[in-house]
Amino acid sequence: MNADDLPTLRDELEAHGLWANKGLGQHFLLDLNITRRIAKTAGDLHGQTIIEVGPGPGGLTRALLEAGAHVIAIEKDARFIPLLEPLNAWSEGKLTLVQGDALEVDEEALLADASSAHIISNLPYNVGTPLLIKWLKSGPWRGPMTLMFQKEVAQRIVAKPGSDAYGRLAVLAQARCNARLEFTVGPRAFTPPPKIASAIVTLKDRPDPYPHLDALERVTFAAFGQRRKMLRAALRSMTPDAETLLNAAGITPTARAEEIDQAGFRALAEAWRAHT
Ligand code: SAM
Repeated sequence: MNADDLPTLRDELEAHGLWANKGLGQHFLLDLNITRRIAKTAGDLHGQTIIEVGPGPGGLTRALLEAGAHVIAIEKDARFIPLLEPLNAWSEGKLTLVQGDALEVDEEALLADASSAHIISNLPYNVGTPLLIKWLKSGPWRGPMTLMFQKEVAQRIVAKPGSDAYGRLAVLAQARCNARLEFTVGPRAFTPPPKIASAIVTLKDRPDPYPHLDALERVTFAAFGQRRKMLRAALRSMTPDAETLLNAAGITPTARAEEIDQAGFRALAEAWRAHT
């Protein structure tokens, strides 16, 4: 099965009279060299079940099917469903199309026989972060993730303490996964081109995931909400007893949020759980 035998994506868009709707974050990858590179970055996909959000005209979907995966593709824009349907016959039944909003979909219910799924997607910019948070919180059905974000969001996901990009997103993502920025893709690779570059991030479950993401969300929200302030002041929005909380977590009350590493934030979330 070779995706080069299919009509080009550009021809398909034209034949179906489709154009990009910017309100849905539609910036398409029409070059199979790039979508194949994304599929390759995800590893050996043969026989694996993939959840793809936002197939659009199907450039990445083609590369995933070509790699031998079963793809469950969730697309909000109903206009693309007739364009994508023939890919199911081409892949001998390996494509399941779901029309809907990925923020609302219960992915586990879509898995049928599979016990887990790799998530691979060129995410719509406007919902990339909430989708990532949803998946970080999800159950054992979720496998590794290979996701394209705006480059600046990708940098925030993989950031380390002490950097400007370090914040809530890094702490939450790295509580569950080892995150790596794999490569960047310039605006001109997309149709239409966005204003900024994008980047692929891989997120693989770490052996010691922190289970209480809600508590971690609460403490990172307060800590980074006022990131220039000392934590004893920043955390006062949570409790008048901020110093006691910090002492219980073994954190110097005069430290600032960006100095606190993963272990520190875990200790703080645990102190908060004990406090409430
Ligand atoms: N995968 C295609 C590609 O790489 O060319 C399209 C990627 S485009 C950046 C994002 C896609 O996500 C669009 O097809 C858009 O319609 C879809 N989309 C936007 N919001 C969505 C949502 N909430 N749920 C599912 N799909 C969504």
